[in-house]
Amino acid sequence: MIVILKKNPDEKQLNNLMAWLKSMNITIHPSQGEMHTVLGLVGDTSVVDIDLLRALDIVEDVKRVQEPYKNANRKFHEEDTIVPVGNTQVGGNVFSVIAGPCSIESEEQVCLIATAVKAAGATMLRGGAFKPRTSPYAFQGLRGHGLELLLEAKKLTGLPVVTEIMDLSQLSLFDDVDVIQVGARNMQNFELLKELGHTGKPILLKRGLANTLQEWLMSAEYVMAGGNQKVILCERGIRTFETATRNTLDLSAVPMLKKLTHLPIIVDPSHATGISWMVKPMAFAATACGADGLMIEVHNDPKRALCDGAQSLTPEAFQDVMDGVRAILPHAYHMPKEVRL
Ligand code: PEP
Ligand code: MN
Repeated sequence: MIVILKKNPDEKQLNNLMAWLKSMNITIHPSQGEMHTVLGLVGDTSVVDIDLLRALDIVEDVKRVQEPYKNANRKFHEEDTIVPVGNTQVGGNVFSVIAGPCSIESEEQVCLIATAVKAAGATMLRGGAFKPRTSPYAFQGLRGHGLELLLEAKKLTGLPVVTEIMDLSQLSLFDDVDVIQVGARNMQNFELLKELGHTGKPILLKRGLANTLQEWLMSAEYVMAGGNQKVILCERGIRTFETATRNTLDLSAVPMLKKLTHLPIIVDPSHATGISWMVKPMAFAATACGADGLMIEVHNDPKRALCDGAQSLTPEAFQDVMDGVRAILPHAYHMPKEVRL
């Protein structure tokens, strides 16, 4: 981090600034120019409040030369992170496919879909019990009972399960859940993220509706700063001016994140497009550009689904996507050799 001081800074204020920075274990390298004095700060500058620094009377400007996230940063952790989940993993030489209904509707529904997606080769089962719906009048999920049904499907198929938490008060119900999903709308619920940082559970962190990659990685940092390094990122489309699709799938996030972070990244073409026929081409594209996996909504009767039927695949259509993904995988950008699916 570089601090550019105003001309002729007040000596007392400068001494206070130096003492404050040193108290945070920052080493200061001053250099005197003709017009300005510049302070080069070395150490863990992620603890420095850049806005506070900028607001000081004697400071002209502050520039970061390093990203504000440390745990998630590829620069401090070169190797790809592999997140173990039950009998499988996310990242490394496994391509993860998380499939299942948007929401759990009944035991029969979730068990039928779980069996079908397992047969097609899915590595994990998804299903929402607590649903973040735009309308308070829409189906809100079966909540605690939904989790019980999801665990039945886990018992039946042996597939690890992924489901969304919406509030900290629900955490005690998630003991047997393999991966806790933080939805797009909660990406910056910092209290929730902090608490999830104290669990040993893998966290699937979806990208917020209108968040930058840096904001997303700072949210991952919240979980990791609490000691939980098991974070999986999920790109699910962002808000743009386009209205033809539900969201705009930002696939350029995948190779860029591979550069910025060591965390695994999966892509959700269902929420990204909102249209079932678009899931296949975008799943193929996500696979090709180097994602570590996919999250896909599958329903046995999409027309009658209580949530997100328009973007849900039938089990047959899902099988077709899986066949194509397997064919693309050996040619995917930056994939380890002999990737397993
Ligand atoms: C979901 O996965 O069901 C969901 C609500 O996703 P998102 O948070 O990406 O909208
Ligand atoms: Mn959904």
